[in-house]
Amino acid sequence: MSKVLIIGAGGVGNVVVKKCAMLPNVFSDIMLASRTLPKVEAAAKEVKELTGRTIQTAKVDADNVQELVTLIKNFEPKLVINVALPYQDLPIMDACLETKTNYLDTANYEPKDVAKFEYSWQWAYKKRFEDAGIMALLGCGFDPGVTGVFTAHAAKYHFDKDGMEYLDIVDCNAGSHGKAFATNFNPEINIREITQRGKYWENGDWKETEPLEINRMINYPEVGPKKSFLLFHEELESLTKNFPSLKRARFWMTFSDEYITHLKVLENVGMTRIDEVEYQGQKIVPLQFLKAVLPEPASLGENYEGQTSIGCHIRGKKDGKPAYFFIHNNCDHAKTYKEIGAQAVSYTTGVPAMIGAKMMLEEKWMKAGVWNVEEFNPDPFMEDLNKYGLEWHEKSSDFVEFND
Ligand code: NDP
Repeated sequence: MSKVLIIGAGGVGNVVVKKCAMLPNVFSDIMLASRTLPKVEAAAKEVKELTGRTIQTAKVDADNVQELVTLIKNFEPKLVINVALPYQDLPIMDACLETKTNYLDTANYEPKDVAKFEYSWQWAYKKRFEDAGIMALLGCGFDPGVTGVFTAHAAKYHFDKDGMEYLDIVDCNAGSHGKAFATNFNPEINIREITQRGKYWENGDWKETEPLEINRMINYPEVGPKKSFLLFHEELESLTKNFPSLKRARFWMTFSDEYITHLKVLENVGMTRIDEVEYQGQKIVPLQFLKAVLPEPASLGENYEGQTSIGCHIRGKKDGKPAYFFIHNNCDHAKTYKEIGAQAVSYTTGVPAMIGAKMMLEEKWMKAGVWNVEEFNPDPFMEDLNKYGLEWHEKSSDFVEFND
């Protein structure tokens, strides 16, 4: 029986709060807090209709540590689940340190003025979290999150010790929301990620590419071949550190030609800039303005068809012989909408965040410090994925389906 404070009431926050509310034995008291109170109240109403449970609500500016500290001191949660934006990671971690409260998030910290994706800022909190006797679990969505748990599972059961050599994480959204252009999670964060230079790990070093320079056709289960682009994704940083036998680690994501065309036009006209420009005597950031006119991720669920397919292709050695292993989950947009009114990208992020929180509150994953998901026993998490809506499938063979 534990109190939990969820911060952020967007696409992902709506899934986390509903999935937590469905497990009253684990999440005995829930508070949902975010910047815009009407969105929090709308989510609380849906929780009531779906589960019959009443949750507490609050307005908070999660950029403001003192506001967060006051909220946490009043509610006294055992854990804060941060599903606001990456910019809020450090203020929320600071507030957790001050109040000695455990912490979980789904995306690494990013400074607002530079799109830089790395764990360094959050890993730097390790000693302070250890000294305070509290835990932070970083990157517990799907990717990062489940992809790290899948990799830990592969290392435990399907390869020799230090036997994993080549990792390719493949992420496909083969769904259609019927809009000309929309992003499936926060537009600002999504577009910052995609317009960055690509990067992958090879032979002990990072290799850089131009943005979306490398692409290839990848075959996704039940979906078929889709054009996929090499991107840097934050779990590559923690996975190559925690599994140093990896000679190469890459991340691939599908984008339709239509999406890429829209993105190129927006880039070319300056709408994806993250620096301030002067507009009618006011300073605005073009990408933030663009976010304001694009559909909210939480609003995309109705009539969304098709599925997501995310998995890990891994090659290496088992019993000293070459081995190949593939593990994945497919998630259907219409099915998740029917269950809790959410599209599958929010669902595949929110469910693992709930499971990570459950692991911590049940003390299956609990140790002081700052950790990534692959540093824990994958077994109970893998069991819960199957139980709470994200079934996974695995196969190992001598036949390598994913080559260079
Ligand atoms: P949304 O934009 O839908 O929701 C973000 C929420 O955070 C909104 O409710 C927003 O409030 C709130 N928020 C923003 N700033 C503040 C603030 N200063 N104080 C309080 N609340 C604030 O985004 P998503 O739900 O799609 O994404 C949430 C997080 O999940 C992001 O960090 C994203 O990167 C991460 N993510 C992780 C994935 C993974 O697999 N690991 C995949 C997808 C997303 P308001 O409504 O007022 O703007």
